[in-house]
Amino acid sequence: MRKISIFGATGSIGSNTFDLIRRDKAAYDVVALSGAGNIALLAAQAKEFNAEIAITALPERLDDLRDALSGTSIEVAAGADAIAEAAERKVDWGMSAIVGAAGLRASMALARHGGILALANKESMVCAGDLLLAECAAHGTKMLPVDSEHSALFQAMNGEDAKTLRRLILTATGGPFKDFTTEQMRGVTPEQAVKHPKWNMGQRISIDSASMFNKALEVIEAKYIFACKPSQIEVVVHPEAIVHSMVEYVDHTIIAHMGSPDMRGAIGYALHWPSRAPNPIKPLDFATLGSLSFASPDEARFPALRLARETLSMGGHAGAIFNAAKEAALDAFIAKKIGFLDMADMVEKTLYHPQLESIRDENQSSIAHVLAADAQARALVNAQI
Ligand code: NAD
Ligand code: MG
Repeated sequence: MRKISIFGATGSIGSNTFDLIRRDKAAYDVVALSGAGNIALLAAQAKEFNAEIAITALPERLDDLRDALSGTSIEVAAGADAIAEAAERKVDWGMSAIVGAAGLRASMALARHGGILALANKESMVCAGDLLLAECAAHGTKMLPVDSEHSALFQAMNGEDAKTLRRLILTATGGPFKDFTTEQMRGVTPEQAVKHPKWNMGQRISIDSASMFNKALEVIEAKYIFACKPSQIEVVVHPEAIVHSMVEYVDHTIIAHMGSPDMRGAIGYALHWPSRAPNPIKPLDFATLGSLSFASPDEARFPALRLARETLSMGGHAGAIFNAAKEAALDAFIAKKIGFLDMADMVEKTLYHPQLESIRDENQSSIAHVLAADAQARALVNAQI
């Protein structure tokens, strides 16, 4: 039996992971599961898979979790430290699917087991890519990207010589405001922004897709995962969300990865790697699809992409600052304290803030330094709201 843990078990990626492992329950021995406010779901998952421990991120919900699991032998715990400690429990396969930089410590712990780190939490790579990859290398852990674009790129590079890579082409649907003017975007609400045309995802990543901050994070994520130059990473708008990304080689051959827009594809690949297994996602029918379209992204309307490139040119803790500023601005947008377009303005101001200049340019030396950069960036954004 394979020992597994799922951090962010109650979210969209977590639920899709359960959908797959539920089909072959006897193959998995569940160690740790984490969630936050959805105690009923966390407890149900822990009972269904007889987990060793269930942890809620919210200390004030520990009693509720204990009550929900009373009469079982499942351990309970709460808080960020408890999540990080539970991630230290040895597993063969660990899913990092907490949303935001809050998932960083779990990713780092899962990188130390020498098995597989299935990485949905792109923020870990954006904030601390150098440290996370070094931790994986030091412990012989295989990091498998679960972000659909990066899973696609990884699969398109199977068996290829990395030295022959010419370009990575990340696809983006363009989100619900693809054809909006800047003026139209100024007044959009969180309720409109969360409605993604193709992918069914958590609230925060859905809104990030509407602003293209999600693609911006993915450009930074790709630079770390595939160790390429920022100039080798392109973004193309592809509204049908069938081509999940493409790799071009020096001979101008392009290998594209295609499939239905369903995260169980990328999760299943990480679960069964290096092999493949049947997956319940809908097969593609090209005649029904008819045609696929591609267009250049408009960086004037979606400044997040330009900011990602600027972040990459800075290096060090710029990714952590970029991500933290984005998370704080997103919180404010969801709380209706700022407008949709204010998010990019705030990220830009924070990225270039003179107070952050010295920490921004420091190399990533420890998670504590990364978290300090994160905290300072959040404080600067929050002071403006
Ligand atoms: P979600 O909001 O649906 O779920 C987030 C999970 O994290 C939940 O289990 C929640 O309880 C937990 N959580 C929230 N705040 C927390 C905190 N402060 N501390 C600890 N746990 C906390 O999010 P999601 O859409 O499943 O995304 C999870 C991660 O996967 C994100 O990093 C996202 O960018 C990435 N991702 C998601 C998708 C997708 O299709 N949903 C695709 C690609 C990448
Ligand atoms: Mg993605």
